[in-house]
Amino acid sequence: MNDIIVQKYGGSSVANIDKIKKVAKKIVQKAKEGNKIVIVVSAMGNATDELIKMAQKISRSPSERELDMLISTGEQVSIALLAMAIHALGWKAISFTGMQAGIITNAVHTKAKVTTINQEKIKSALEEGKIVIVAGFQGIDANGDITTLGRGGSDTTAIALAAQLGASRCEIYTDVSGVYTADPRIIPSARRIANISYDEMAEMASLGAKVMHYRAIDLARNYKVKIIVKSSFTPGEGTVIKEADTMLEKFVVRGVTHETNVGKIVVQEVPDVPGIAFKLFKALAEVEIIVDMIIQSSHHNKINDIAFTVALNDFDKAIQITKQVAEKIGAKGIISEPEVAKVSIVGAGITSDPAIAASMFGALAKEGINIDMISTSGLRISCLINSNRIEDAVRAIHKEFNLDKVGEEK
Ligand code: ASP
Ligand code: MG
Repeated sequence: MNDIIVQKYGGSSVANIDKIKKVAKKIVQKAKEGNKIVIVVSAMGNATDELIKMAQKISRSPSERELDMLISTGEQVSIALLAMAIHALGWKAISFTGMQAGIITNAVHTKAKVTTINQEKIKSALEEGKIVIVAGFQGIDANGDITTLGRGGSDTTAIALAAQLGASRCEIYTDVSGVYTADPRIIPSARRIANISYDEMAEMASLGAKVMHYRAIDLARNYKVKIIVKSSFTPGEGTVIKEADTMLEKFVVRGVTHETNVGKIVVQEVPDVPGIAFKLFKALAEVEIIVDMIIQSSHHNKINDIAFTVALNDFDKAIQITKQVAEKIGAKGIISEPEVAKVSIVGAGITSDPAIAASMFGALAKEGINIDMISTSGLRISCLINSNRIEDAVRAIHKEFNLDKVGEEK
């Protein structure tokens, strides 16, 4: 069998009929080269946001099963239109919903994880010479209910399919020409990164680089799926994401990322006894809320404050759960702050060079930006700051590390 190539087109690449026709042309071109092609598409433009807005006009916390039923429809529109556009070019294509494509997930609505893919239907369509178009972001659980994989989940669909079908690579087409040293909308001098490791990219994505969904990168790393991120309409080499190929003992900052979609919660004056953090973070874990930065600061007389951050879309739910736990553990109360943002630097090994952290904090200090929380891993250093200074922070740090000069091309 010829190589299978999986390509994913994001919402902006299929935002209108004209773009769908252009994408169809590109796909047919690729098929003519003799490849077997599986396409994953997102919903058109902001379709998913519009669907969520409608649900929220009815309820602030709609049933998650029904929400999945609703938001999975966006992709059903784009796959059908793309299949029609390919037919119009005289080529064979068939669209499949997540269920039809055999994508089985667990039952965690709105954040489901793929557990298996039954490939028969896809494989036989490919054998019949058809281009297979799969709805991104959705699957089906053991009860036969439609699930979704979390916002941006079409990337995960694409990588999961590439891994399962043994594809030689997965091409992610988007509205930017690859992964950049910082968001080019804020930093016009940001440069394209030609090659990046899974580890670095996973950090960048989970720290706010919007170009790819972090879960998709984790999956690609586990199955060694080579990823190429490219622009749908502008030619160029894009960014290759793969295993790090050299073991250089030279630690460099690869990029600056930022995230405004965060909120901070402080549990005030909790007793300093074993088991408190366990109770709090277990309750949040039970509902799949990812907690990011955590800081515990101690007062005198056996009293602590515990502060942590979560994604803003989990904020209300996290506040509600934290309140309940706070009452049970005898805390004084909680404070919630949505006006925070996180700026991070990423690069393999950067925390083993203390000068790098110092330079980052120095760049913020020179701008008079106050650091509220700090967290690090081997690959990243993140600072929580006030959200109204986030662009200044990214700019200052990008400049501090000369990212507009060193490294890769535009
Ligand atoms: N349409 C979904 C979203 O907007 C999935 C995706 O685009 O990857 O989140
Ligand atoms: Mg997307």
